[in-house]
Amino acid sequence: MSATAIVGATVVTCDEEAKVIHDGTVVIDGTTILDVGPRDAVATNGATLIHARGAILHPALINAHAHLAMTIFRGAADDRDLQGFLERIFPLEAQHCSEASIAAGVRLAIGESFLAGCTSALDMYFWPDVAQAVAAEAGFRLHNGPVFMGFPTPDCPSVETQLERFTASPSPWIVAHGTYTLSVEELKALAALRLAHAARFTIHAAENTGEVDTVLEMTQKTPVALLDDLGLLGPHSVLAHVVAITDEEIARLGATATIVAHCPLSNLKLASGICRTPQLIAAGATVALGTDGPASSDDLDLYTAMRFAALIARGATGDATALSAREVLEMATINGARALGLADTLGSITPGKDADLVLLDGQSAALTPSVDPIASIVYAASRADVRDVWAKGRQVVANRQLTTIDLGRAVAEVRELVATWRESDLA
Ligand SMILES: [Zn+2]
Repeated sequence: MSATAIVGATVVTCDEEAKVIHDGTVVIDGTTILDVGPRDAVATNGATLIHARGAILHPALINAHAHLAMTIFRGAADDRDLQGFLERIFPLEAQHCSEASIAAGVRLAIGESFLAGCTSALDMYFWPDVAQAVAAEAGFRLHNGPVFMGFPTPDCPSVETQLERFTASPSPWIVAHGTYTLSVEELKALAALRLAHAARFTIHAAENTGEVDTVLEMTQKTPVALLDDLGLLGPHSVLAHVVAITDEEIARLGATATIVAHCPLSNLKLASGICRTPQLIAAGATVALGTDGPASSDDLDLYTAMRFAALIARGATGDATALSAREVLEMATINGARALGLADTLGSITPGKDADLVLLDGQSAALTPSVDPIASIVYAASRADVRDVWAKGRQVVANRQLTTIDLGRAVAEVRELVATWRESDLA
């Protein structure tokens, strides 16, 4: 494959110094970033040139908590709290989830994600192998695994079956639904499995006070304390939400360098509360960013999630410096890479890393002028500004068009699928 050079852009690297290179050039060779620097200092001999003067180039965004296939349930459970949402969603899933509906839902979700500058996700849903096949075809980096829940699910009769599937699969992920949907014994088995396979671990935790009360009643411990006792906190663990927690729990999440997947949009929509991200960061936890599923948030747009993350931290603390634009952009990039265990290969524009890049439109009104490009991305950019996207060097969005997914087909597929469901199902 010949090299491609993106020339003259404002390169927001998200590297350790958060370097911004004005009039910069990035060379992609195959799947990898070959060189990054000021335009005059980077050799582009023989490369295909993409002129990007005035445009912002940033690392592709990483979704640290999603249920991609739930595009098929978008709008099906509005205006409920978490418990009301689950009461509505679980029966819908039992009735309508199948290999075919998962494939259709994931295809649409990946198209939507690419168009919103996101090329990777940590996903939790049924038929993970079906989702993987769709993702591989599209060029999307999907991290998932068999989902552990303590009752029969559309793709699995029992935790025992999932344990067998995990052992037989190459997945490095143990995907547990929650401390309220698994027994302590089952969680203990997962903790042992994680150790035996040196696997990464993800789970919903402390999403709202109702969940904490349920887990307290079941186990006499809070979700975070229970996970701590089981050895399930640490840099290998990604806890989604982490809203209803105490100061002591924040200190433990920090001391163990646990990763939190902050999902501001679903937390607000379900009235769950606000994750105390500035305190978590100050304590030493890594905070990444997720959209959660499109049935509770309702889209897969990390630009919106970034802006909400920045603003609710200020609203909640009364401190305009509670969370910087840099910290928020890092949540959606390098910290997302840390969540995936890929900090060495993803999450910043650095030579040797995978070429996962987003070029924003240089003619965007909302990005003009751009005094601080990092602030522009967090406070002003939207997915409407995404012009080109590369995933592992492959251009998956070219001049606002998907290249690996037929969007018209993906939209039609989901519409036809949902049209076959009885009206009462979605009333
Ligand atoms: Zn979730």
